[in-house]
Amino acid sequence: MAMKKSRKSGYRRRRFRNRAALIAAGCAVLAALSGLLLLGISQKPAPAMAPTAESAASAQQAESQAVPPAESEAAGENAGTADDWALRLVDKDHLLPADFAPDVVKAGNSYKHVEFDRRAAGALEELLDACNAEGHELMVCSGYRTIAYQEGLFEKQVRKQENLGLSGEEAVAAAATVVEVPGGSEHNLGLAVDFGTPDNQLVDESFDDEPESAWLKANAWKYGFILRYPQGAEDVTGITYEPWHYRYVGLAAAKEIYDRQLTLEAYLGE
Ligand SMILES: [Zn+2]
Repeated sequence: MAMKKSRKSGYRRRRFRNRAALIAAGCAVLAALSGLLLLGISQKPAPAMAPTAESAASAQQAESQAVPPAESEAAGENAGTADDWALRLVDKDHLLPADFAPDVVKAGNSYKHVEFDRRAAGALEELLDACNAEGHELMVCSGYRTIAYQEGLFEKQVRKQENLGLSGEEAVAAAATVVEVPGGSEHNLGLAVDFGTPDNQLVDESFDDEPESAWLKANAWKYGFILRYPQGAEDVTGITYEPWHYRYVGLAAAKEIYDRQLTLEAYLGE
């Protein structure tokens, strides 16, 4: 899990929540989760928010100046299609509902399988096969994680902070800097994957030294995946560079984001 930084923003769209709001969100999620677990409720996920053509257009305007006008028309067409479920933004400011439960299936290769959204599992396996057909040894290390699992990680961290002398809101706030708030991880969405190799399953910066990382940077978009937390975009994503973490966004969005070197936030106009 990467440390989240709140540097002075070089981008205009990102708004960092203040600590009190984060604490409140964390408490609300924990409370909601506890209630749902007691009731044993299982519901279908809510529909993803659809980006508007207007927001996609503003994202274009705000980004790279080097793209020819003809190409910059494309995002408006990409946004608002049947792929909207793949464009759902999830972070500490856009929490998934506590009862979010995507339809997941096993996906991966002979090295390892993880759970992944059924609609994107085929694309993930095509990506793995294409990479390894070129002599690489790409594997999945982590895929879908339940919000309940995330809650367990978070509560464990809160207790750890309490043992270190913090109390109440302080402990929750400190935990949120170490562990993603339940419902705030893309892994809870079922569309994020952490990659590795049989010899490097550390899921850390060292993955960037592997030839598989270079292959992913050049080719993942062809299968609908993007490098979700690129270097130098910490102010936009709120998360430090994660060369191992890729997110399925669909073919059209992935191409646009790759071509224009955008973040998902910029693509969605957030
Ligand atoms: Zn990840």
